[in-house]
Amino acid sequence: MERYYQPEIETAFREEMLSLQSERLASTVKRVYENVPFYRSKMDELGVNPEDIQTVADLKKLPFSYKQDLRDTYPYGLFAVPLKDVVRLHASSGTTGKQIVVGYTQKDLDIWADCCARALTAAGCTEEDIVHVSYGYGLFTGGLGADGGAMRLGATAVPVSSGNTQRQVTILKDFGSTILCCTPSYALHIAETLYASGYTKDDISLKAGVFGAEPWTNEMRHQIEELLGIKAFDIYGLTEIIGPGVGFECVEQSGMHINEDHFIVEVIDPDTGEVLPEDTQGELVFTCISKEAFPILRYRTRDIGVITRKKCSCGRTLVKMTKPRGRTDDMLIIRGVNVFPSQIETVLLDKGYTANYQIVVDRSHNFDSIEVRVEISNEVFSDTVKGLSQRAKELSEALKSLLGISAKVTLLEPNTIPRSEGKAVRVVDKRKLLD
Ligand code: ADP
Ligand code: ZN
Repeated sequence: MERYYQPEIETAFREEMLSLQSERLASTVKRVYENVPFYRSKMDELGVNPEDIQTVADLKKLPFSYKQDLRDTYPYGLFAVPLKDVVRLHASSGTTGKQIVVGYTQKDLDIWADCCARALTAAGCTEEDIVHVSYGYGLFTGGLGADGGAMRLGATAVPVSSGNTQRQVTILKDFGSTILCCTPSYALHIAETLYASGYTKDDISLKAGVFGAEPWTNEMRHQIEELLGIKAFDIYGLTEIIGPGVGFECVEQSGMHINEDHFIVEVIDPDTGEVLPEDTQGELVFTCISKEAFPILRYRTRDIGVITRKKCSCGRTLVKMTKPRGRTDDMLIIRGVNVFPSQIETVLLDKGYTANYQIVVDRSHNFDSIEVRVEISNEVFSDTVKGLSQRAKELSEALKSLLGISAKVTLLEPNTIPRSEGKAVRVVDKRKLLD
């Protein structure tokens, strides 16, 4: 029987949750209207008063917020409390442009720790566990987020941070770490380094991992689980909302429960902004309803996913989101066809390749080309030239049948693609340099 960290919330009846959300939403909207000129003027423009927002059903009357709004009000323009009440700042890793900054009061940090503690508990973590955190510590939310959750649970946090992978392996072994937290791509790199150092999963004590901060496929999950001898759980979050712990996976491993007592989720049509029904794919939009310093309203994440209220076998009643299939900004448009890197990853791993790959997109004479560069194992690499070109051809056909466009395939020697210690860089879009 799985444990919960806060059962009264995680298994609450829908009506109770809705009334808690409505109450928190109304008071948050009132507070930001009074304290943040940005929201006041946006709401005034739409003719919406704070009193118009009484229940969750009123949410759709509110304006959206965008990453650009954070940039325009950089650094502190969206803070809803005076700076003296802010005890911590974090900034986004800047994957998609200029960095943005967010703030936390002590209460916000407590909420965040609760959210991450729920995620760790769902992965089987208790106070007996040793939680090895290889997300980066610093302005990036990954490290301190997971750390806060582990400490909140009374587990033992090991703040290794990312990098120096050989040392990660030594610490995993020597400290007897039982739970690993990092990006999925870094988990694979740690596994690779473990085996390259002459060890196997039998030499470490890990039982589970909580991985997120970047898209990853189920195929990659299976690879990590196999190599490290663990169960691998997904965790979702973003700096603008709180950091990791917005959503987390339970033992059913079929999507992430959203901590909806703190964050209301909507799914919208990214083109029209229309709110879509549950079980329909669209852009995820979050509203923070309990945070003090940075309670963003209807934030357009650009992450594409689906939410569902189908009953979950773990007993949690929190709404679930599917693994986001990537951001609208990651989606490549190649000769008019939409391609997500995660689709390519699925084909690669399905065909027995590693998750060490890169997608290079280029344009010449107005014609887009896509090249998938993937590493093969040493044994395969020593194959004949004929054998290799046959493999490349097979992969190219598999990609074509899935994507509907042809891609060039380049098979590479092991260890030729740079490894990431944080978020993996999957796409090199040379067209951007041409624009
Ligand atoms: P940046 O925007 O600079 O990358 P963040 O660390 O805030 O900084 O990144 C948050 C983003 O990371 C999310 O919007 C989402 O695109 C991605 N992400 C986070 N967790 C996951 C996950 N479990 N699966 C897929 N994508 C994720
Ligand atoms: Zn569940």
